[in-house]
Parts: sequence; C-alpha cells; structure tokens
Amino acid sequence: MKVVDHIRNAKQTLFSLEILPPLKGQDINSIFSAIEPLMEFNPPFIDVTYHREEYVYKKRENGLLEKVATKKRPGTVGICAAIMNRFKVDAVPHIICGGFSKEETENALIDLNFLGIDNVLALRGDAIKTEGVFIPEKDGNNYATDLIKQITDLNKGCYLFDDVENAAPSNFCIGIAGYPEKHFEAPNMKTDLKYLKKKIELGAEYIVTQMFFNNKKFFEFEKLCREEGITVPIIPGLKPLTTKKQLTILPSVFHIDIPEDLADAVEKCKNNEEVKKVGIEWCIAQSKELKKAGVPILHYYSMSKSDSIKAIASSVF
Ligand code: FAD
Repeated sequence: MKVVDHIRNAKQTLFSLEILPPLKGQDINSIFSAIEPLMEFNPPFIDVTYHREEYVYKKRENGLLEKVATKKRPGTVGICAAIMNRFKVDAVPHIICGGFSKEETENALIDLNFLGIDNVLALRGDAIKTEGVFIPEKDGNNYATDLIKQITDLNKGCYLFDDVENAAPSNFCIGIAGYPEKHFEAPNMKTDLKYLKKKIELGAEYIVTQMFFNNKKFFEFEKLCREEGITVPIIPGLKPLTTKKQLTILPSVFHIDIPEDLADAVEKCKNNEEVKKVGIEWCIAQSKELKKAGVPILHYYSMSKSDSIKAIASSVF
C-alpha cells in the first residue's frame, strides 16, 4: 500500500522507521534482528536507505595504489523485498540521482515495480566524499526534481525511449526530503521551499524531514510550507542521540543544530550509556509534543539499532 494511503486510513499518529543496509559481508539477519523488536509498534512501512559507491585506494602487487569505486552498503532493493516477505509491511527504498544514468534509474524502477514495491523516496544524494560537490552522472538526473519527473513519467507509461509500445505504467507513490533547518546548499529558506514546492508539483506526495532536535524548527518549517501552498503530509524524522561524538558529527554531516540544553546534558554524561538515556528522554519529549500536534507519522532514524527506538516507542505509542 502507498504511504499516503496508510496516512489517509490512520486514526492516529503512526510509527515508522528507517534502516540502512548492513556493511558488505554481513548477513540479512542483522537487519531482521534490528526490526523484529520494533514490529509490536506496527510500522506500516520501513524505509531502506541507498548508499552510493565511494572511492578507496587498494594496494596492487607492484606496490602502486589503485583508486577503485566500491559500495560499502549494497543491497537496498534486496533488503526491501526481504522485509516485505518476512514482516508483511511495505518497504520504501530510497532512490538517488548520484551514480545513476537515467537508463539505470529506469531499470531500477522496473525492478522495484516487478517486486510489487509501490513507494520510493526520491533524493538527489550527496557528493562522493572525495569530490566535495555533487556531480551527476553523464545522462543522469541533476536534482531530485529531475528524478521525480522521470518517475512520474514512468507512472504515465512513458519510458525513456518512445519505441516501447503499449507500455505498462508503474504506480509509485513518491516521497521526498525536506529540511526544517534548510538544505545546506540553498542560499536561503525561501529558495529551498520554492524547489520543495516544485518537487510536489512534479508529483511528490509527501515530505519526510531531515532530523531535528528542536520541535520549534519543525513547526516553523511546517508553517512556511503551508504558507507556500505545500499541502502534502509532512512527516517529522527523529533520531535519538547515542554517543558524545554525535554532538559534533551530526551538525557537520547533516547541517543541523543541537540545542544548548541537550548539548549541555550530553556533555555532562560520564559515558555513552548515560548519553543514550539522555537521547531517549529528549526524543520521547519531542515525540510526545509532535504527536499531540497531530503529525501523521513519527519516523525514526534507527541506524539499524532497535534499543533506543524501542524505549521511545514504548513510551509514546
Ligand atoms: P534536491 O531536492 O535536489 O535539493 C538539493 C539542493 O538543490 C537544495 O539546496 C535545493 O534547494 C536545490 N534544488 C532542488 N531542486 C533544484 C532545481 N531544480 N534547480 C536548482 N536547485 C534545486 N542520501 C543518500 O545518499 N541516500 C539516502 O538514502 C538518503 N536518504 C535521505 C532521507 C531523508 C529523509 C533525507 C532528509 C535525506 C536523505 N539523504 C540520503 C540525503 C540527501 O540525498 C541529501 O540531503 C542531498 O544533499 C539532497 O537531497 P535532496 O533530494 O533534498 O536534493
């Protein structure tokens, strides 16, 4: 079922989560055991992230270093199929522009369609670490807007080359990313919202936000979206802090603020067990306030670990 239909049919705020594929070489049970303890909260769908290739240097026999592209977390599509089969819930694969030509994107969408997956989260993706700025593939999509257009075209039965006759349309429900604290490349919030609205006009049906630790930022973002004429459901994305290091890593990677009160509380912790407790308490408070405000879904970035999320969901749902 489509994410928007789950929202339409829901009588109260739903619980959902995002997982990441395991590192190459780990087996699927690491994913199953992260999801199993959370199934009691009835997630209608589970998001699975997509990780593009990275460049690493491998030493060859002649002693020279060779730059090779490798995917550390492959398997997004396979994991989606495995989750649907095992847990009988919908899976939402993330699909990105980076690393894909349009033809490869079309083939990936055909695979998803054949697997009975009718949801995708359409994203641009980030730059490869060594490149600094996002560079699309030759013949690839530049922005999420281009990717959404391609998916919407496929939903109308328009494949890339018009020699496909009597083409069966796909039926994807398209989700997109939104940034309560602005996407880091956008010159200002207004411009970012202009493109967010464009993504909706091109066919996206709901927004999932970047993580945030201050609900005020979410409520302000929601208000700005509504003022801009964006009427689709906005799903807040939440992540409980679990380590001290995240105080500096999260702002640097995700371009988000950590409120002073939370940062102070984490700094006072003697170890990461204590940080986990602080993170859980903070996330429970955020979740309860958002639920009270009537958000359609509380979406948790689990990082494929269930203990903090289980503690939060037990208190909120
Ligand atoms: P876009 O919507 O393309 O926006 C990128 C920037 O360009 C913004 O500044 C925007 O204002 C601007 N812009 C947008 N459209 C246009 C246009 N047509 N012309 C000019 N400027 C434009 N990354 C992964 O690699 N894998 C994942 O699985 C993944 N999952 C994510 C899930 C969520 C919920 C979120 C919030 C992010 C996720 N990301 C993931 C990270 C995401 O790929 C990055 O944040 C990326 O930098 C931007 O993606 P986007 O889809 O928001 O890009």
